[in-house]
Amino acid sequence: MQATSTHLNSSIEKLWETRPFIISGPCSAETPEQILETAKLLASSGQVDLFRAGIWKPRTKPGMFEGIGSEALGWLLEAKKYTGLPVCVEVATAKHVEDALKFDTDLLWIGARTTVSPFSVQAVAEALKGVNVPVLIKNPVNPDIELWSGAIERLQQIGLSKIGMIHRGFSNYGDAVYRNTPMWHIPIEMKLRFPNMLMLCDPSHICGNRIMLKEIAQKSINLGFNGLMIESHINPDFAWSDAKQQITPTEVAQLITQLIWRSETSNEAEYLIALSKFRQQINQIDDELLSLLSQRMKIAEKIGEHKRSENIIILQANRWTEIAERVEKYGASLGLSAEFIARYLDALHLESINHQNKIMNGTKE
Ligand code: PEP
Ligand code: MN
Repeated sequence: MQATSTHLNSSIEKLWETRPFIISGPCSAETPEQILETAKLLASSGQVDLFRAGIWKPRTKPGMFEGIGSEALGWLLEAKKYTGLPVCVEVATAKHVEDALKFDTDLLWIGARTTVSPFSVQAVAEALKGVNVPVLIKNPVNPDIELWSGAIERLQQIGLSKIGMIHRGFSNYGDAVYRNTPMWHIPIEMKLRFPNMLMLCDPSHICGNRIMLKEIAQKSINLGFNGLMIESHINPDFAWSDAKQQITPTEVAQLITQLIWRSETSNEAEYLIALSKFRQQINQIDDELLSLLSQRMKIAEKIGEHKRSENIIILQANRWTEIAERVEKYGASLGLSAEFIARYLDALHLESINHQNKIMNGTKE
């Protein structure tokens, strides 16, 4: 008997609208048995919409397992025929696109190491001209929002209608917590730039381990992401790539059911009234904050005038250290994160110096 997925949609059009949109499967296709077994378990769980497997693997160092290659496309097609679960693979070159499409791959994704290269993205885009296949674009490995936007624009330019994003975190130097730091403000900015575009989270590559998957997945849902891409393997400890972060198909299903899925909005009157009150309060506080900041800058300008009259330099390192220490302490006592205080102080200092500099140069209107 064939296993089926309750989430399953016959057409990709419908699948694209599925919320939450869940993609799962191994980091890499390894053997026909591993592919079929994983796909069967995921499909029968009824929690997964699309089966993924990497077949061309961009590895950091030579000598690591670099994927089975095109041969595995046949395994995926077999798994799709057996389970009914549509399939997706990562593509990085025009040849990958061509091969994947020959085997009826339902969706393609562009990996983080490819998004960094405009030449590669353009080559993939051109290979997709006239083909209506949905494409997901992972963020580039480095936190460059323009590069991510640019990759999307390249696909839009060739006329693709189904483009989505995958947030998989950003590579770092020495972050012991995450394999790839989430830097949530970047995908949030992308959601603002492309408000109607599908946005998925890939907690597997953010975490690099199994422990934090749920926490990261839940955070993305809380932020309004539309679904997840999670790596799964029938025998995670023995996976040929990314062993530490993969979980079994059963664990994927458990994870999905444990997550609290939230809707974008509600028409419930009580909820809307309370929300509107809170928003008014926020607007009021924002106005007050700006007005106070503007007063602060006016005082900084007076200090500028004062320093100018004595021919004193703007930057007084000791005074700034004193301010920073005071604000950091007070901010922490108010429950504000050290990271936020640091960013706030930087912005404040820069703006203050600019105001004083205009006074010094006599360029203030
Ligand atoms: C992957 O999905 O297996 C992969 C290689 O991901 P990324 O491009 O995010 O590193
Ligand atoms: Mn992987």
